[in-house]
Amino acid sequence: MIHLGLDLGEDVAFANVERLVSRAATHGQFVRMDMEESARVDATLRIYRRLREAGHENVGTVLQAYLYRSERDLRELLPIGSNLRLVKGAYLEPPDVAFPKKADVDRNFFKLIALSLTEGRYTAIATHDDRIIERSIAFIDERRIAGDRFEFQMLYGVRPGLQRDLVRRGYRVLVATPYGEDWYPYFMRRLAERPANVLFFVRNLFRR
Ligand SMILES: Cc1cc2nc3c(=O)[nH]c(=O)nc-3n(C[C@H](O)[C@H](O)[C@H](O)COP(=O)(O)OP(=O)(O)OC[C@H]3O[C@@H](n4cnc5c(N)ncnc54)[C@H](O)[C@@H]3O)c2cc1C
Repeated sequence: MIHLGLDLGEDVAFANVERLVSRAATHGQFVRMDMEESARVDATLRIYRRLREAGHENVGTVLQAYLYRSERDLRELLPIGSNLRLVKGAYLEPPDVAFPKKADVDRNFFKLIALSLTEGRYTAIATHDDRIIERSIAFIDERRIAGDRFEFQMLYGVRPGLQRDLVRRGYRVLVATPYGEDWYPYFMRRLAERPANVLFFVRNLFRR
């Protein structure tokens, strides 16, 4: 949202996103609004709601499992038929807004996935964590959730073997791929958000 003018005001960002979403619809495309730092969550969700209320169906956003507020946000978004991507969360957040412990983030992540799937909402499970993926698959099998109600999402270049394996097993997998002239600053920003990503990236170049 930062790139679409959020810091210039919500109306500016809304107008820019709406143009994009409307144009995407004419090409049968879907637009996902990424979620940034916790300070921007309220504004992003308000813009998302406005888009849905304006009748745009081809738009979704993201909820981050590390935020305490995300379960409430999910429950509030369920009635508007949301299409949400669920992630652990990528930014360094203080303990008054986010679970400091990874185990709590993982627990909350699965809780959000199970809730969204149970409520029949299209759920994008964005993670490279194979334990969460297998747990989600077990839940999906147990509840007989149809294959067109969810998808897995991963980043280009991260766990490509796992991506292929899921496709072979018949699951939908979206591979998020930065492209265009400005891919390098984007990539460096992703690494800078979380220095551990540098190590992950190098390790996963060689991992299936
Ligand atoms: C498609 C997609 C969209 C996303 N959109 C957002 C968003 O809008 N807002 C937001 O806050 N976050 C977003 N994220 C990032 C997300 O919040 C996590 O920070 C990121 O996915 C790492 O967490 P994980 O679930 O893979 O689990 P982790 O427990 O962090 O990682 C599990 C394993 O995956 C591998 N791995 C994880 N990340 C990387 C990496 N970057 N490079 C190499 N290996 C890695 C490692 O082997 C690690 O052990 C997105 C992630 C994906 C896949």
